[in-house]
Amino acid sequence: METGSVRPQQPPELQPPGSGAGEAPQDDGGGGKGSVDSDATSGNPYAGLVSSLRAAWLSGKTRPVEYRLAQLEALGRFLDEKKEDILEATASDMGKPPFEAEFSELHLCKNELHETLNSLSHWMKDEHVDRSLVTRLDSAFIRKDPYGVVLIIAPWNYPIHLVVVPLIGAIAAGNCVIVKPSEMTKDTERLMAEELPKYLDNDCFAVVTGGVQETTRLLENKFDYIFFTGSPSVGRIIMAAAAKHLTPVTLELGGKNPCYVSDPCNVQNVARRVAWGRFFNAGQTCVAPDYVLCSVEMQEKLLPALREAITEFYGSNPRESPDFGRIVGDKQFQRVQALLRCGRAAIGGQTDAETRYIAPTVLVDLQPSDPVMQEEIFGPILPIVIVANMDEAIDFINSRERPLVVYAFSSDDKVVNQVLERTSSGGFCGNDTLMHATLTSLPFGGIGNSGLGMYHGKFTFDTFTHRRGCLHRGMGWEVLNAVRYPPYSQQKLGIARAASEVKRKGTCTLL
Ligand code: NAD
Repeated sequence: METGSVRPQQPPELQPPGSGAGEAPQDDGGGGKGSVDSDATSGNPYAGLVSSLRAAWLSGKTRPVEYRLAQLEALGRFLDEKKEDILEATASDMGKPPFEAEFSELHLCKNELHETLNSLSHWMKDEHVDRSLVTRLDSAFIRKDPYGVVLIIAPWNYPIHLVVVPLIGAIAAGNCVIVKPSEMTKDTERLMAEELPKYLDNDCFAVVTGGVQETTRLLENKFDYIFFTGSPSVGRIIMAAAAKHLTPVTLELGGKNPCYVSDPCNVQNVARRVAWGRFFNAGQTCVAPDYVLCSVEMQEKLLPALREAITEFYGSNPRESPDFGRIVGDKQFQRVQALLRCGRAAIGGQTDAETRYIAPTVLVDLQPSDPVMQEEIFGPILPIVIVANMDEAIDFINSRERPLVVYAFSSDDKVVNQVLERTSSGGFCGNDTLMHATLTSLPFGGIGNSGLGMYHGKFTFDTFTHRRGCLHRGMGWEVLNAVRYPPYSQQKLGIARAASEVKRKGTCTLL
């Protein structure tokens, strides 16, 4: 059977879109499908939308490779044709510098899209697997099935990227999708709600807008997969909601990413690479180096090098730099500003509430118990914590929640490898920051408190794909089956075992 040719039957209780029982929610005036009318059957405002998408999925429409490719191409056109609007919206929402927006919100999405378009027909193929003696004449294969109706919930820090990259994989895998962008980045949310539906098939893909209240109601519905990016505390809420329906989840969460700098290293290069990763997007990056661990001698060398790097990047007054972003909202600004009360600002420390500006800042003289060392910073502040040596740095890292990424800098590869070997985290990057996340060939995701599951490139397709184990037997050769039917006998058991046995390697086999 060819991949993509299966068309499941539609259960009688489900109506096709637009037939009455499964009406999608009305537009909320914000462009998306936000605060909406009630569905008569369940009282949930999104029940109609979810059931209409489920009906579309059950119709088999999203399964053919041609359909998936056409939707992906349309998503690519959205990125190309709306490029200027995306740059404008992200600039107005959070002062995202155009270079940073173009690189992270557009270029990286296009890379994911191209990788998927290049490889999709290969990824979708059935994988044929080994068979036992009894099934030797049959077909055993793994079918790459879509899950069905999936929900993607995104945060505000990369408001296009964190919707579009999972959406690429969800479409590629043949699902129907509801995306819920962050309500924090209003202009980007509006752009997606108004423009994405003009490119994608509205029977199968929808944008739902809103905040906690709307998302809570949305989550009451049964989805077949939920992909969530956001904070660990909301991740727990999502997982609890998913558990009610036994819905599988991917949780892409945050946390504090340690960055160990060992004594033998090129201090100027380290300072530039750490400063870039920390201050990109004004520090609002889940994989930003959250704090530096180094010796007191290294701190003495690193501080002037960091000061130089910051001046090189943003000039003597970063407030005037077109290349330095702003904090997304007043609440977030107050939170990050309060963290400046910890330790001493060796570099920066200036703030301006009106424009939500926080200068690129380096904090020293800290205690591990200080608030800035307890919560994810998610702003342009880099604390330096003193450790005696690499062993102490590794103990420090291992005594805390497992992070999304561990960074280690050293001109001695053995040190980098030791940190990799003796710590646990979602990802790892030696001698740089953020760059591991730009490769579509690497899985991206957390572990423990930093998340569950992975994506990027083929891993996104795999995330939204159910690997369905299939055995398709012939109708003949019944005589071969007789050994497993009652009445049982020791002789039949011996033959049945021999014909289906998995041998240990190196043992004698007649087969
Ligand atoms: P958040 O958890 O507050 O919100 C994320 C999404 O969840 C938003 O769409 C929001 O509307 C929704 N939401 C918020 N509260 C909810 C609730 N009670 N019930 C249901 N839905 C709710 O996160 P944020 O502030 O938007 O983003 C910052 C966090 O995201 C940071 O912790 C950061 O590290 C993390 N993050 C992780 C990654 C990653 O790839 N691992 C990427 C970006 C951001």
